[in-house]
Amino acid sequence: MLQIKKIIGHVLSSNSYLLFRKDVTDCYLIDAGDANQILNELPDYLGIKGIFLTHGHFDHVSGIKKLINCFPDCKIYTSKYGKEALGDTKKNLSAYHDLPVSYIGDNVIIISEGERIELFDDTFINILETPGHCQSCLTYYTNHHIFTGDSYIPGAKVVTTLPKGNKTQANISLQRILELSKDRIICAGHDTDKWVSIL
Ligand SMILES: [Zn+2]
Repeated sequence: MLQIKKIIGHVLSSNSYLLFRKDVTDCYLIDAGDANQILNELPDYLGIKGIFLTHGHFDHVSGIKKLINCFPDCKIYTSKYGKEALGDTKKNLSAYHDLPVSYIGDNVIIISEGERIELFDDTFINILETPGHCQSCLTYYTNHHIFTGDSYIPGAKVVTTLPKGNKTQANISLQRILELSKDRIICAGHDTDKWVSIL
C-alpha cells in the first residue's frame, strides 16, 4: 500500500512528500526544497527513484542537486516551463533570495497533462497542468491523495502576483483541483500556519 510522509523543509517552510511502500526499496518525492531535511527523514532502506516537481520556484527545487549526488539515477519530472526554471536562477526566483540554485541534467524529464506514470505495481501518479501561480505548475494525484504545490493551499489565496502569475488561469486550475480534491487527501506545498513567504 502506498504510504505518504510529509517533510517540512527549512527553505521557506515548503513541504515535500515521500511516496513509498514498506515492501519496496524505491521511493519517490513530490518537490525537493530542502535536501538535508529530506535525507534526515528518509528511512534507511529507501532510495529515491524520482522527484515530481509541482513547480519551478526555488523553495521547491533547491534540494535537487544534493539529492542527485546521493541518488544519481533519480529522475526529475517537471513541465517544460519547470525545466526552464530549474536552469535559470531568475525564473526560479532564487536569484532574488540570496540562494542562487539551478539544475540542468539529462535526467530532467518533461511531462504534461494527461500522462500517468507507474510508481509501483498498479500504483500510478497522474499529471494535471495547473498554471496560474506560475506557468510551470503541475498538480499530481493518486487514488487517495492530491499534491497541489502552490496551486492550492487550503486556507490561503493562490498567489498570482509573482512573475508569470495569472489570476484567470489560477481560478480555472483551482476549480479543476477542487473537483479532484473531493475524495482525496490534499497535500499542499506549504502549511498556512508555517507560511513565511508569498512564494
Ligand atoms: Zn511557488
